[in-house]
Amino acid sequence: MLENINEKCAVVGIFGHKEASKLAYFSLHSLQHRGQEAAGISSSDGTKLHTIKDRGLVMRVFDEEKLATLSGNSAIGHTRYSTAGDDSILDAQPVFARYDLGEMSIVHNGNLTNAEEVRNKLIEKGAIFQTFMDTENLIHLIAKSSKDKLLDRIIDAVQRIEGAFSLVFLSRTKMFAMRDRHGFRPLSLGRLPNGGYIVASETCAFDLVGAEFIRDVEPGELLIFEEDKAPQSIKVYEPTPKHCIFEYVYFARPDSQVFGQSVYQTRKEMGKELARIAPVEADVVIPVPDGGVPSAIGYAQESGIPYEMGIMRNHYIGRTFIEPTQEMRDLKVKMKLSPMIDIIKGKRVVVIDDSIVRGTTSRRIIRMLKDAGATEVHMRVSSPPTTDPCFYGVDTPDKDKLIAANMTTDEICEYIEADSLAYLDEESLLRSVNSDMQEEKYCTACFTGKYIV
Ligand code: SF4
Repeated sequence: MLENINEKCAVVGIFGHKEASKLAYFSLHSLQHRGQEAAGISSSDGTKLHTIKDRGLVMRVFDEEKLATLSGNSAIGHTRYSTAGDDSILDAQPVFARYDLGEMSIVHNGNLTNAEEVRNKLIEKGAIFQTFMDTENLIHLIAKSSKDKLLDRIIDAVQRIEGAFSLVFLSRTKMFAMRDRHGFRPLSLGRLPNGGYIVASETCAFDLVGAEFIRDVEPGELLIFEEDKAPQSIKVYEPTPKHCIFEYVYFARPDSQVFGQSVYQTRKEMGKELARIAPVEADVVIPVPDGGVPSAIGYAQESGIPYEMGIMRNHYIGRTFIEPTQEMRDLKVKMKLSPMIDIIKGKRVVVIDDSIVRGTTSRRIIRMLKDAGATEVHMRVSSPPTTDPCFYGVDTPDKDKLIAANMTTDEICEYIEADSLAYLDEESLLRSVNSDMQEEKYCTACFTGKYIV
């Protein structure tokens, strides 16, 4: 699956390390897949916060000279994906503000479901907003809170918001990390090799900076980082976990541990389940790179059909910043993927992808494989049909653009010109994700339409 569903952001926080901004920079590098439109870091030297943010990839936004200005032992960072027409630098994070208690920066992954209501109330009371970001609501709620201490103001503010949020706050002397009561988006805690702590959206950031994974920040938990102290934990909400199951399907990097388990192993298990529920006679199993790779390996292992890299992906085309029109999307598929004719010609091919969103990409891929000489192309999808949009921090097309919301599986098969099509069903997905089938632990709304908030 390419270019159709996008995670909106990644967050990172470093506390108690003399190279905090450099570690935040490297961590953001490994989280680049969660947002490529803008990046930013705020650091604190104990007396003042310093912030740099801009549009573009992490590598483009920062260089040695800029990082040197982000001094201090603590830093928070963000990478951002932006929807079309909404790519102003004003909407890049961290969001920085001066207020009566001092200075503060915030980074946020997620989507607040009552953002408009909260914003309207604040505007009625005279607040002036500079951006369209949900995150700015928090700055106002904290600044206007009647509590005396920042910690109490943060608790006061997060109790007024609803929806999905993994947040990291930085003040001049402290850092705070918080997950919403459902834990929609991931956030993990680690220990840095030479002292200090890291929190990040995914554990692949820990591996790059040599940090040791301690545990996930719990749903509804607020962690407080203070000099010379272990992180303190406050339970702001009773946890009612509803982790985003799509993190396993597509968003998270395969080398991350998300919600307590390996993304790679989970994806491979999805491929095995798919082979069990939707077998087909074929000569070769190939993935749509990169998302379909672990599931295709699982499908091949379970079915006994050889696995091959039948499609090569060009990683070097970069991003264009051109409005993503339908025409542009089609061209992007051609630029990104090319068939390995030696592998495909004269073969019955099973092609594995992680999801089908609009169907146009799948159709192009299948045509490409048939043009390369495949005698049959059987599409297998390692998630259930995507029928509903997400309101919890993931950018999905509207329901009328989601092919599975508007066509049956047979109709989609015909549309994408496959010889057969099968999806993983909800039960099999849950079985792959956790053997004890705890449906209530996961959000599956984009497959089921069952929204929790
Ligand atoms: S609706 Fe889908 S993408 Fe959004 S949080 Fe739920 S499972 Fe994840």
